[in-house]
Amino acid sequence: MTEPAWQDRVWARHRRRTGAVLIVGTGAVGGFLAEELARLGFSPLHLVDPDILEVENLVRHPLGAPALGQPKASGLAGRIRREFPPCEATGVDADFLKLPVGEQLWLAEQADVVVAATDSAACQRRVNAVALAARKPAVYPAVWVDARVRDAEVGEILWVLPGRRTPCYECAAEFRNGAADAQAARGTRLDIQLVALATAQVVAALADPEDEHAAILDRQRTAVYLHGLTPTSPAIRDAFPTGGLESRNVRIPFPDRPCPACHGSRLRTWDAARTPPDEREGARWAHVAAFLTIVFIVMLLFLVLAGRFIRS
Ligand SMILES: [Zn+2]
Repeated sequence: MTEPAWQDRVWARHRRRTGAVLIVGTGAVGGFLAEELARLGFSPLHLVDPDILEVENLVRHPLGAPALGQPKASGLAGRIRREFPPCEATGVDADFLKLPVGEQLWLAEQADVVVAATDSAACQRRVNAVALAARKPAVYPAVWVDARVRDAEVGEILWVLPGRRTPCYECAAEFRNGAADAQAARGTRLDIQLVALATAQVVAALADPEDEHAAILDRQRTAVYLHGLTPTSPAIRDAFPTGGLESRNVRIPFPDRPCPACHGSRLRTWDAARTPPDEREGARWAHVAAFLTIVFIVMLLFLVLAGRFIRS
């Protein structure tokens, strides 16, 4: 099944998207995301999750009853390899937080894009720190969890570039402070799948920013808020007025004080967030050249004036 002709037929419908992806959390969002990324062409996929498939998961997880009692990560990886052989999927049946730091970093370094789709804020924060350390782009899909909001009414997909080029997960948590929390603990399968599909598009864009589909990325607005098919509930109408199925890119600011994870702040990263590193380097040399020119002119004027003074 791996002969060239067979491979050509697999990718007859669209160009294969390439890259390695680490997905931490293979619940409903991470599970559907893994299946979508495999079909887009991404390989290898590294899936990390400590949970086993339980009866409560059946209503919305890609794995069904035959996988009950099996680990979600290796169970899903096995299913992807069986049903879609071009994708090398591997499962790590462990809590990412409890892996040795070296292994956490190694997993991130192997990936072109890192995804954190867990329902643990502590784990999301750890993935954020590791992705920043490994200098890898990262994506954080979730749904809003708040008593005022219907389950999974609004999905949130945050993406982060390393090097303080965009605000990180911790910056976004500060921005969201007091507003709805973002986890994926609740919601129906169809709402969750919408979030997974939009996340797959963001991952594909981050893996290949030159592709025309990468237009979803906008450095000024790094969170996608996604509303499902039903009209907005009264509690959320002010923040997200829509008759259903709408997405919007939202600007996440750097915090006022330096972020504990990325050290970005509104003041320190104003330029860094908007200017690519090579342009910043060019601007620095332009400043040095301008400064030296001014010093040279001042010295020249001084010498001319001093010469006149001595002659008179
Ligand atoms: Zn930050």
